[in-house]
Amino acid sequence: MKVIVKECSHYDVEVIKTKVVAALNQLQFDFSKLYNAKVAIKPNLLTSASPESAVITHPAFFKAIVQIVKQHGGIPVLVESPAVYSLQRVMKKTGYDAIVTEEDVFVADTSDCIIIHNDNAYHFKRFEVPKILTECDILFNLPKFKTHALTHITCAVKNLFGTIHGIKKSQWHFRAKTRDEFAQMLLDLYQAYCTDSALPKTIVHIADAITMMEGDGPGPGGMPAFLGVIGMSYNAIAVDYALSQLAGFTLDNIPTIKMGFKRGLCKKPEEIDIIKDSGISVGRISIPPKEAGSTKILGIPLVNAVLKNLLVAKPLPDPEKCTLCYQCKQICPVKAISTSKDGKVPSYDYSACIRCYCCMEICPESAISLTKPLLQRILMH
Ligand code: SF4
Ligand code: SF4
Repeated sequence: MKVIVKECSHYDVEVIKTKVVAALNQLQFDFSKLYNAKVAIKPNLLTSASPESAVITHPAFFKAIVQIVKQHGGIPVLVESPAVYSLQRVMKKTGYDAIVTEEDVFVADTSDCIIIHNDNAYHFKRFEVPKILTECDILFNLPKFKTHALTHITCAVKNLFGTIHGIKKSQWHFRAKTRDEFAQMLLDLYQAYCTDSALPKTIVHIADAITMMEGDGPGPGGMPAFLGVIGMSYNAIAVDYALSQLAGFTLDNIPTIKMGFKRGLCKKPEEIDIIKDSGISVGRISIPPKEAGSTKILGIPLVNAVLKNLLVAKPLPDPEKCTLCYQCKQICPVKAISTSKDGKVPSYDYSACIRCYCCMEICPESAISLTKPLLQRILMH
């Protein structure tokens, strides 16, 4: 099992193309498969954010992959479903719309869904994904490498979750409430992508880690940071592992990687062949997201509001930044957010909040931050 890590210092379409083609060759990708094939391309377009904020897969990165597909006779299909706003609106704000028009990319309707199955799932055996994927021969998964309040990092494994249509994504947080349950669900979905015969047979993960995100990601609250690489593999866990290691994150804190290895969804770390360009310097120590705390103790979910507030970080909106746009209210899977009582920030019901941090992820003003759990604050004094 190989991961190719290419040095790439800036978002130049031609440079990215050269690097990606070289890496695909190293992965023994058969370019003739692209001829006349419908190729699904799945970037991370979570929300309307500038490419410089490192929230989304950079448009130049997307354009480079589209051009590679077209140059080999393939038909590029954009498959993405932002969390709250329409794809058209997000494409307009992020510069994707110009590329889609210029390059004649077919934009899939992700509301038309089919059910895929994973009989070997840890828990969740069925997922609704866009039907268009069943018509595609190849899937190029283009995640952005970022920190994440709930899952520590988000990259190739979690990017596939973005194919779940719009606001339905947040309903999964309701079904998989704790960090570990949510990570297992992401792995169930990933396994379904690898095994359901209706989906593309070839999936290549091509991660945009030229500019990564550190700190309180994955939304605009995180900080862009230079990593200067593109990571590629046929295995999503392997590419997430290689990039996390390169960025200096503590791998034990990343549930999708830890559990992915345990479930045998990837070879053991020592069996992964990470082939890096010689110029890549290791030893960066990136800033991790704030530790949210666990919503379980000894495997028992924390349903008691007092205990939850003592032990698990709360999302707190800042009246100085909040514009009362209520995207947070729209995305909250348990309706813990309601109309403002003070006219400054939305009202939060922390006893109902399941700490999924979707509100933080979606807030366009970076107005929501995590407060340290009360017990942690007491112990630190
Ligand atoms: S906290 Fe953020 S998402 Fe929520 S209303 Fe304020 S600005 Fe909008
Ligand atoms: S308030 Fe925020 S963190 Fe809590 S459940 Fe709702 S979206 Fe998730």
